[in-house]
Parts: sequence; structure tokens; C-alpha cells
Amino acid sequence: MNNLHAILIPMWDFYFLFLMIDARPELAGFSISHMVAKMEAQSPGVPEVIRVVHHQDLNKRILVALVVSSTLLGAILLFLLCVWIYRRRTSKLDDGECRKDLEVSKSTTMNPISRFNSLRLANFKGSVSMIDYKLLEAATDNFSKSNVLDEGSTGHVYKARFDDKMLAAVKRIDYGGPDAEREFENEVNWLRKIRHQNIIKLLGHCIRDETRFLVYEMMQNGSLESQLHGPSHGSALTWHLRMKIAVDIARGLEYLHEHRSPPVVHRDLKSSNILLDSDFNAKLSDFGLTVNLGAQNKNIKLSGTLGYVAPEYLLDGKLTDKSDVYAFGVVLLELLTGKKPVETMGPTQSQSLVSWAIPQLGDRSKLPKVVDPVIRDTMDLKHLYQVAAVAVLCVQSEPSYRPLVTDVLHSLIPLVPVELGGSLRITEPLHLKEPSSTRS
Ligand code: AMP
Repeated sequence: MNNLHAILIPMWDFYFLFLMIDARPELAGFSISHMVAKMEAQSPGVPEVIRVVHHQDLNKRILVALVVSSTLLGAILLFLLCVWIYRRRTSKLDDGECRKDLEVSKSTTMNPISRFNSLRLANFKGSVSMIDYKLLEAATDNFSKSNVLDEGSTGHVYKARFDDKMLAAVKRIDYGGPDAEREFENEVNWLRKIRHQNIIKLLGHCIRDETRFLVYEMMQNGSLESQLHGPSHGSALTWHLRMKIAVDIARGLEYLHEHRSPPVVHRDLKSSNILLDSDFNAKLSDFGLTVNLGAQNKNIKLSGTLGYVAPEYLLDGKLTDKSDVYAFGVVLLELLTGKKPVETMGPTQSQSLVSWAIPQLGDRSKLPKVVDPVIRDTMDLKHLYQVAAVAVLCVQSEPSYRPLVTDVLHSLIPLVPVELGGSLRITEPLHLKEPSSTRS
């Protein structure tokens, strides 16, 4: 208490002196001792407090006041720095922490009171709504067959209509064991954190007993796989649209590899995980296997899809961003040739697209013949050579020879018309749907 008094009194004196200068500006040019002397002379018997303010004493007090105020200022700055560091650390939640979040949200589904009774979109970063099961039932007409959009490895995907207006896609995952559970959690945890124009939006999720539901934005043109290898055999995809789709995929990957910290590896890039909206904007989906780069040290299980898995990952379990670049190269080959990543040749025989295409892509005389018949002779040959060169580089067996996805992106953007999000200016009108020919 005494100490505090000793500090506060000199501070008060110091403040008092400034008040006086403020009130009587004519004093401002004087030294402090002059001022004291003048005040003593003018009113000899008046304030005790002024008489005790002698030259040396006053300097000491000013010094103490300065030390105290700078200490206080330092303490405030230190406190603000701590708050800033704490906020930065909490905004970079790692996987483990997100998993805890999901556990919390899981427990909320068990409590009917805390359930959402209407669909709310995930409209801010880090939020994915829990959606009431009854709402999903009503929106999918009780998961009727007529609403099935497609079937994936983990279950059916249904068309859902909420409030008679908003369309969405609902993935229903009937109990698929611990792996499916882990992938569900991983998917929710990644997609709640990620917002990018070329990555699918997760609108919400629901947990009901053993069944899990994921609600996504609706992608009207389905998957790239169904466009290329389904009944239409790629006839809706012109050369320019294919290049636009390749650029969209590269943009999504660039975001994961270059703009996330730490970098993120998708780990299951393939044409069935590339979804197309009504304008053929492509978005990456299926983040069930996605990991942070460097997480391979934590003994991650070898997973992926045959035909897309990079050789070093398949043979040595070595996972890097270049594994995604390899898978991107395979998708680029699919876009170019219209062929599946692994073609079945007979009951026991199959051929990989990479080993079939590589010898022909380097030979300019053979190259036009490997192009998908649906788009053959519809592109500038120089552009074709360039895309073939990019594809060859991406599927190199040595990962260090593969380009970064940013380099891939920058070499493809000039091949996409401005109207489709690239930098190519074409003088002729752009035909989005060119007449298709039959496949050979
Ligand atoms: P998945 O189980 O994620 O592999 O999805 C299986 C298939 O369901 C995909 O290949 C698409 O054809 C379809 N699908 C998945 N998500 C959507 C979506 N958001 N909109 C439209 N179709 C989708």
C-alpha cells in the first residue's frame, strides 16, 4: 500500500504541473525550477504542495513516473501480444481438435432439443449444420429410388429438395465399419474448414444410429467419370470445356497444396471425385482420405484407387503433393483420350492408361490418333501438343520430375477461353456443344 502511495503521489505531482501549464500557457516556456520559484514569489504562504517541489525532487519524480508509465505500457503491449498469439493458435485448429469438435456435434444429435429444425446452410467458415433426419426424409421422398443420383463406394447419393425450392445432394452411408466412420469424420472436418470455388460445399450432415448422411450442394452435371465414361461418352464436353475442367481441378489442387498451411494432399483424386455443376464448373469432392502433408509419418493406411495411385506411394507408401499431381495427369489423359484409367481387355487382362498413352504422346504423328474421337480434329494442334506434354510430365514415375500444380495451372490457363475463365481470346464464336461423332 505504501509503495503504491509512493508511486502515485509523484505521478499526481507531475500531472498537476502539466495541468498548470495547460491552464497558464505563459508558464510553458519556463524551466520547472523557474516556475516553482515564480509561484513561490507570487504567493509566498500558499500551497505547501508547491513549495516542496524542489528541482532535484521533481526530476526524480518525473523519472519515477516515466518508469512506471513505460512499465505499464510494456505490460499492456505484452498482454496484447499474448492475446494475438493465442488467437492465431486457436484459429489454426489441427485435425485432432476438429475431431473433438465433431465428437461434440455428434453428441448434440442425440439430444433432440438441440437439433436444428430447419436446414441452414454452412455459410461461414468452420460451420457445417447438423440437419434433422426428418428433414432429409421429407426432402428425398423417404430416400425413394427415383431420387437416386448415383451410387458410390460407400452408399447411394440422392437428390433432395428442401422447402420445395433448394436442391441438394444427400449421400447416405449405411454402416460401413470403422474405415467408413473415419472417412466420414475426415470429410466433415476438412469440408467445414475449406471454402473454395473448385471444392464441393458441404451444407450439412446428420447422424442417425449407425447411418451417416452428408448434404452437399447439387452438382447438376454429375461426375466427370459419368460424363466421360457414361452413356453420353463425353459428347457434352468440347475441347475447350475439357481444358476448363482441367484448369478448375488444378485451381482446387493449387489451393490445397499452396494456400493451405500446412499443405493438404487430397489423396483420392479421380474422375468420379470431380463433380460438374450446371455450367460445367468442376469441383473436387470426397475428402475422406485427405491429410495434411507430413502426416504420413503417423502411419497412414495405404489407400487410393487403382490407375490413379502414384508408383512411389504404391511401392513405398511415400505420400507427397506430387501424388496428387500424378493423379491429375491421369485425369488429364482421360480428358484427352476419353479412355478409362484402367481398361479391361479380357477376363484376366487389363491395361493402364498411363502405360498405353505415354509412348504415343511423345510422337507428334501418333498424337492426334490417341485423342478422344468425340473431339478429334477440333483443337489447335499446338494446344494439343502442349496438353500432351503437361500430361506426360505429370505421370512421370519419378516424383521430382513432375511439375508443381501451380506450374501445371499456368501452362493450361492460356488454352482456356476468357469466357470460360482462362486467358485465350478467340475470334470465332465459342461453341460449347459441338456435334459429337461416334467412338471408335
Ligand atoms: P461418391 O460416393 O462421393 O463417390 O459419389 C458417388 C456419385 O454420386 C458421384 O460419382 C456422382 O455421380 C454422384 N454425386 C456425388 N455427390 C454429388 C453432388 N453433390 N451432386 C450431384 N451428384 C453427386
